[in-house]
Amino acid sequence: MSYLVLARKWRPKNFTEVVGQQHVLRALINGLDQNRLHHAFLFAGTRGVGKTTLARIFAKSLNCEQGVSSNPCGECQSCQEVDAGRFVDLIEVDAASRTKVDDTRELLDNVQYAPSRGRYKVYLIDEVHMLSTSSFNALLKTLEEPPPHVKFLFATTDPQKLPVTILSRCLQFNLRRLDLAQISGHLNHILRQEAIDFDVDALPAIARAADGSMRDALSLLDQAISFGGGSVTNEHVHQMLGTIEQQQLQLIVTALVNQDGKSLLEQAQQLSDLGRDFAVVLNDLLSLLQRIATIQMVPDLENNNEDQLEQLTSLAQQFSPETIQLLYQIALHGKRDLPFAADPKSGFEMTLLRMLSFQPKLTAHTDDNIAQQPRNIRPTAEPIKPAVVAPQPQPQPQPQPQPQPQPTISPVVTPKAAVTEQLPSTQANEEELSESNWTQIIASLKLAALARQLADNSAFISARGHQVYLSLAPELAHLATSKAQERLEAALSKNLGYELSLSFEQGSAATDNRQTLATERAEQASVKQQQATESIHNDPAVDAIKKAFDARVIESSIKPIE
Ligand SMILES: [Zn+2]
Repeated sequence: MSYLVLARKWRPKNFTEVVGQQHVLRALINGLDQNRLHHAFLFAGTRGVGKTTLARIFAKSLNCEQGVSSNPCGECQSCQEVDAGRFVDLIEVDAASRTKVDDTRELLDNVQYAPSRGRYKVYLIDEVHMLSTSSFNALLKTLEEPPPHVKFLFATTDPQKLPVTILSRCLQFNLRRLDLAQISGHLNHILRQEAIDFDVDALPAIARAADGSMRDALSLLDQAISFGGGSVTNEHVHQMLGTIEQQQLQLIVTALVNQDGKSLLEQAQQLSDLGRDFAVVLNDLLSLLQRIATIQMVPDLENNNEDQLEQLTSLAQQFSPETIQLLYQIALHGKRDLPFAADPKSGFEMTLLRMLSFQPKLTAHTDDNIAQQPRNIRPTAEPIKPAVVAPQPQPQPQPQPQPQPQPTISPVVTPKAAVTEQLPSTQANEEELSESNWTQIIASLKLAALARQLADNSAFISARGHQVYLSLAPELAHLATSKAQERLEAALSKNLGYELSLSFEQGSAATDNRQTLATERAEQASVKQQQATESIHNDPAVDAIKKAFDARVIESSIKPIE
């Protein structure tokens, strides 16, 4: 192609054009503007983050004919020659190809001479860690007594390999890898300036593939433009990168929300048909889950990438944060285990199915949801019989009418259907009320609100003829209102087939060793809770999660299955 490659064309020519590295820029700019300049600088950082670019701008700042400043004019001959790479007093060396001591000597032989055109002679030594030991020794001599007109700018991807003697004589700057937003934003800017059509969704994919390196990102962008015949489309970029379109990933996550195993496997098949690399797909899925987690935990983070924010926010609301963490962990393990699967597709499918199996039924992001997560991991409890003679009183929005000494009178506890089936009304007709059948009969009654509370908390004492004596704890005495009493009498009479009247005495069911339905259920609930807790602790899947997350079970979140 006839145009200059983007990386070269868009190489920053002054500090204001540099993307990221603000911490380094500030130090360099201050040093230049206040004319407090060290004689040796070390720029350390991974490839493509701007080490030599910063060094060149620095060299220009030192030699601009308008004077030393952080803002070189860019117009004078010195500035132009530096930009064009032919400024005689900027001596660039690639240490990777000049490791022999003679080369370094030759290089340093000229150090003592004054600059021919500029103010400073600037030595820019790239990959300086590649120099040999004797080259370092030759360099060290110069660094110990540097002529005032010389500046050394070293760049390295591996500062660990530099001798301490050299390191200690340099002002060191650590350049950071650029983040997705910085790279995407810069690509966006360049494409607009170049008037090249592009899908904004395609840019984060390029940024991700560039892995923190702006140079790699621009090189990929060049390829994408070429691949797309002059424009940058989502489809072409994803084809080019062999990655998956975000949309497709979102379909996978949506299928998880909907518990739609069929759709999940269809997505896997489509990816396979398209020849996608499943390791890359899992990587992209990890990135997507990470973004969803970020949106959940830090919703107003400024850097929350705007691309697809809306869709991701919607997904974020449909999962609990814990679920997203779990899915992330499963994807991570899936990626790790991929080489061990029979083939990549089946490995990928298993990962999706594992996500599906761990995914709670309720998708709304509520506390309820979190509490019910263990439900998929445990076998169901007792079978529910559908034919309930006395229908279960609906859980009412009852005002809890009393401070409850027992943590028990939960209106949502389901009485055993089996119990009510033993008491069809035809058989109950002649049955005498007794201590042994009291709670069963009470459970089968259709009662509302206060009458239900009264019934559940009353214990049977005795029956004489049609007079039935019950006990009620003193702190619950207020439940025995005449209305509640009337309703309970009516329900009992109907159930037993004869008229009866109730008389209440104060007494504690616990100390009198009498059963109320409430205490009975509390005991049952406690047993069930204990079973559920044991079941969770003995569950190998839970154990695996604990190990994978370094997690612990929050005991209070364990709920038995109703
Ligand atoms: Zn200038």
